[in-house]
Amino acid sequence: MSASERGVASTRYVLDARGLHKDYPEMGVSALDGVDLTVEPGEFVALRGASGSGKSTLLNILGCIDRPSRGQYFLGGRDVSTLDRTESAWVRLHYLGFIFQSFHLIGSDTALENVSLPLFYAGVARRERERRAREMLARVGLEGREHHRPRELSGGQRQRVAIARAFVSTPKVLLADEPTGALDSRTAHEVMQLLLELRAERDLTIVLVTHEEDVANYAERHVFMRDGRVEKDVRRAAG
Ligand code: ADP
Ligand code: MG
Repeated sequence: MSASERGVASTRYVLDARGLHKDYPEMGVSALDGVDLTVEPGEFVALRGASGSGKSTLLNILGCIDRPSRGQYFLGGRDVSTLDRTESAWVRLHYLGFIFQSFHLIGSDTALENVSLPLFYAGVARRERERRAREMLARVGLEGREHHRPRELSGGQRQRVAIARAFVSTPKVLLADEPTGALDSRTAHEVMQLLLELRAERDLTIVLVTHEEDVANYAERHVFMRDGRVEKDVRRAAG
């Protein structure tokens, strides 16, 4: 019997999803209808497909924000499909980084406070939190903006704060849901360049949802979703 038949994780993959289903019976909707997806360490995958095809549902399960109705999911070789809330929160904090179309920053907090927050939850002492958050903000080009609140920043700057927050706890996997969807195309490309730079500096795997072809083209692998399934999985040269 192979490892996969036994339901044992292979260490070759950082993400290993098998037969994922997500049903909303009360709505008569099946958002995922049997998704298998494996991702190797260091890969950059663009998740594409029409609106409603299940991209966000899949990303949220991969990010331990949501749980599948059926199927198995291994993250870094560990079965995480059945974790409780506390365990999922720990995995998200120590293993995953997220960015979203609408940034999801705390409006009443400064850039520095927003970026420090994951370190607070990780139990890092105040001074060290602040030092690391400042360093990360400088890395994304926001030196001098530490005390600005989100409404005092442009869309591109807000997404940079969100990127700094995602990276401050040195995640292994970055999950991004339409991260350029609220940005003009020049700013979108600046944000994508920044992600490529950060990826080159660390040992990072990226899964990025987008319906914009030019954004997807930063990735070497395109996974197309349709009606809750993987329709096509294409490896290509990025550029
Ligand atoms: P995408 O991100 O590709 O646009 P989603 O993953 O958000 O697609 O949604 C996939 C399908 O599941 C859609 O038909 C959507 O309406 C449905 N869906 C998503 N979340 C819920 C929910 N909480 N309750 C009911 N249906 C949902
Ligand atoms: Mg979506």
